[in-house]
Amino acid sequence: VTTEERPYDVVIVGGGQSALAVAYFLRRTSLSVMLLDSAHAPGGAWVHGWDSLRLFSPAQWSSLPGWSMPSVEGYPTRDDIVDYLAQYEKRYNFSIERPVLVTDICRDDGGFIVHADQGVWRARAVISATGTWSHPYVPVYPNRSSYVGQQMHSAHYRNATPFTGQEVLVVGGGNSGAQILAEVSGVAKSTWVTQTEPIFLPDDVDGRVLFERATAKWKARQEGRVLQDPPGGLGDVVMVDSVKAARERGVLKAVRPFREFAENGVIWQDGSETAFDAVIWCTGFRPALRHLESLGIVTQEGKVALSGTQSVNVPGLWLVGYGEWTGFASATLIGGMRYAKATALEVAQALQGEPLAQQ
Ligand code: FAD
Repeated sequence: VTTEERPYDVVIVGGGQSALAVAYFLRRTSLSVMLLDSAHAPGGAWVHGWDSLRLFSPAQWSSLPGWSMPSVEGYPTRDDIVDYLAQYEKRYNFSIERPVLVTDICRDDGGFIVHADQGVWRARAVISATGTWSHPYVPVYPNRSSYVGQQMHSAHYRNATPFTGQEVLVVGGGNSGAQILAEVSGVAKSTWVTQTEPIFLPDDVDGRVLFERATAKWKARQEGRVLQDPPGGLGDVVMVDSVKAARERGVLKAVRPFREFAENGVIWQDGSETAFDAVIWCTGFRPALRHLESLGIVTQEGKVALSGTQSVNVPGLWLVGYGEWTGFASATLIGGMRYAKATALEVAQALQGEPLAQQ
């Protein structure tokens, strides 16, 4: 395949909710757009969610631009969201190639050459929307490699069945940690380790309230006002049914981190040792930016310096989704819309009227 065969105005790397939201707004322009997604099927990271995973907010609060998620009883399940994303991309007839793993992006003649495992694409602008799922984070604990038990990251957790009857250590104080602990503690003897005491939201607070509170804080900051910190950030634990049930069983109790690993378990700060068959890391993710490394713009913290959503050092490259650093709540279904729209507008302005780069 030669690069000349595949010139586009815009290549979007990724095919999850962030990529689809930008593609939606770019439909309103005359630009040619191609999405390259390493996944085999639609749905982005949601495909990998655990079996019982549900959204924190009802469907009407969790929609992409243009077409709302069909209403379902209660909170949408993982499969509801995957179905919605699959229908969404079909409805708007986006050009998407799957599975295509983008491995490298180089600047060339005012545009970009996008290298992938399936060939090479040329683009005048690139929008990176690769999310975080493929880059799970595990904190450093001494002697981890000498621990012989099973280790799993929440990225790969599906359900509690494989842990039945075991001694399991769940590490991480966010919603993943709380939900996985709640489930695993039903079939295994579990211990929960969190850096600090977990913050549980009131039982009647769901994603809507969280988002409203966080939005009020964000707006106040934009306007230079200081708003009293509302109780609850986006990362605090939402009391979904399984977590409430764990509280009722008396198992929703966390202890502070251990000192190091032993061969069969962990050694606590006081020197005592506990054996564990398995450790489940619910310790989050980092942006999946390997494909941008050769551009020399990925910082020590694994981020990229941005002006809005455009790279400061590589004009013509935008990043959407990922986390707060690309925009407030930008990795959520509802929060990403604002940045998707702004990004599409900037891309259109930057490329307007210019011929498609060809060599
Ligand atoms: P992803 O969904 O990860 O999509 C990225 C896509 O890019 C994938 O298809 C991947 O295969 C592809 N890709 C990656 N690297 C490459 C590459 N090099 N080349 C080509 N393709 C590539 N959000 C909400 O709005 N509400 C919630 O209630 C909610 N709950 C959540 C609960 C949990 C436990 C978790 C983990 C997340 C939750 N989120 C929620 C957040 C949301 O699921 C994610 O942040 C969202 O999936 C991000 O979308 P994205 O499109 O940016 O990335």
